[in-house]
Amino acid sequence: MALKIGVDVDGVLADFKSGFTQAVRAVHGQDIGADDPASSWSDRLTNRELDAAWKHIGRSANWWTTLQAYEKPQVKRLYELSRERRWEVFFLTKRPATAGEPVQYQTQWWLEQQGFVMPSVLTVPGSRGELSNALRLDIVLDDQLINCVEVVSASTAKAILVLRSAADAAQRDHATARGIGTVARLEEAVDVLTRLEEVIEHRRGKLLRLTDWFKSDREDDALPPPQQRPSLDRR
Ligand SMILES: [Mg+2]
Repeated sequence: MALKIGVDVDGVLADFKSGFTQAVRAVHGQDIGADDPASSWSDRLTNRELDAAWKHIGRSANWWTTLQAYEKPQVKRLYELSRERRWEVFFLTKRPATAGEPVQYQTQWWLEQQGFVMPSVLTVPGSRGELSNALRLDIVLDDQLINCVEVVSASTAKAILVLRSAADAAQRDHATARGIGTVARLEEAVDVLTRLEEVIEHRRGKLLRLTDWFKSDREDDALPPPQQRPSLDRR
């Protein structure tokens, strides 16, 4: 059975953080907020300052098409794997509207620029869990723990949390405790997708443990060959 995959866009594929930083600087000047990966913009800016940055984005025509991809070759790799293995990929986003084209079109255009042809983009304001259930997704990639928790709580889909910062160790532990896999890069996440497909083929109908589908190595799959086992014959 071909995988059905949900992929969050900002934070997983697109570097929203850098784009938003530029918007903040354009509005408030260079010096506002230290560039500390551990703190969020809501810790560093007042609500009024945040609103001003979002208004700047809203006025900027097709702003969402200006973001950089974190790992452009991996977007193309995801496309090629989806064609080769007949995967269905749905890109999920809660992006607010800006001037110019609708968010869905901007996001489709951007994905094509990265190498994913004819992308299916869903602009989803509500729960990712309900959506995963409705679409019968097998797995969802997201950079927000809350979204991953919704997915595993409300559907049978697996979730991979993409944590790009080493400062996120506590989140990683929370995720693992809930059966959510974590990766630091999209490349690792795409590796896990191929692994999940192989495991589902062989163990369909059984409850999959996190270690079954998530580990990219196969060290726990097989006993060592007979000649490497310690001898039981002590004579
Ligand atoms: Mg995101």
